[in-house]
Amino acid sequence: MNPALRQEYLAALGLETWVMRGKSALAAAPSEFAAPVESPVAPVAPVAPVARTAEAEMSRDDSTAREAGFDWPELRARVAACTRCGLCNTRTQTVFGVGNQGAEWLIVGEAPGADEDRQGEPFVGRAGQLLNSMLRAIGLAREQVYIANVLKCRPPGNRDPAAGEAAECLPYLEQQIALLKPKIMLAVGRIASQNLLRTDVTLGRLRRQVHHFGVSRVPLVVTYHPAYLLRTPGDKRKAWEDLKFAREVCARV
Ligand code: SF4
Repeated sequence: MNPALRQEYLAALGLETWVMRGKSALAAAPSEFAAPVESPVAPVAPVAPVARTAEAEMSRDDSTAREAGFDWPELRARVAACTRCGLCNTRTQTVFGVGNQGAEWLIVGEAPGADEDRQGEPFVGRAGQLLNSMLRAIGLAREQVYIANVLKCRPPGNRDPAAGEAAECLPYLEQQIALLKPKIMLAVGRIASQNLLRTDVTLGRLRRQVHHFGVSRVPLVVTYHPAYLLRTPGDKRKAWEDLKFAREVCARV
């Protein structure tokens, strides 16, 4: 990537001070943490999933199988017509997902917000623009990845998804993953991370390690939600570390 263009993307992340290391543009990084750029992030203790009851596990397994076997058009149609939770009563439209159906990267957020509900596409508006910049900073165009949410309908007032809503909606995402077969998943934000990993562990503790999703054990890395980063720009550097880590993990798969 053109170095000037990369600087522009890093600037959009709030990382204005950076140096080039070597010939690769991908080695560019903020000078404050230049040393770890090409080094693996230090391992931390793996996070154990939250213990679940056998009944809950059986219920989830049944639910997961619900959408198995549907192809992309069938799955999209089922989501568009879905009334499995109360969010169908307040949505403008469902937000299925967008991107390259042959993508190696799957980006998963929490749920549609007001802009997404209006436009029918995940990660639009200011948060979407920042996500695009984050992706470009590691050499990925939005069109190269697939982007989806745990929930396909907007919770009113952007409240956190209820556990029952996430449980009803996750099978759609799980079938999207089965169809996509991504090399890596990037969970953005606490809600998406906790739902995908079935844990109550904080985002801070989930960062900097490789998790695995589902029976296919797709490598999964977590980072901050762009909407959070817009409110808390001081954490953009941590997000940049997460992105580099995810890029390293993907290169090893
Ligand atoms: S959030 Fe998911 S489960 Fe609930 S109505 Fe929308 S598509 Fe269906």
